[in-house]
Amino acid sequence: MTNGQPDPGEDAWRALGAEPGLCRDCRHSRLNQTRRGTAYLRCTRAAWDERLPRYPRLPVLRCPGHEPETE
Ligand code: SF4
Repeated sequence: MTNGQPDPGEDAWRALGAEPGLCRDCRHSRLNQTRRGTAYLRCTRAAWDERLPRYPRLPVLRCPGHEPETE
């Protein structure tokens, strides 16, 4: 993940407990992990795109806001 944040690492992705789907490579996703180990994924695009939930239900299989990192 290179969306301007430190890479949270594979452990954090595993701690999500669900497949992230499209959010995995999306430039708008932020993966956070609490000190207790709980991980959650936030969609930063939801701050201005009202179609999207701030905390998307995973896995996200279709999303009008999805933008891969590499593009
Ligand atoms: S824009 Fe869609 S795919 Fe990207 S982080 Fe938000 S919910 Fe996930």
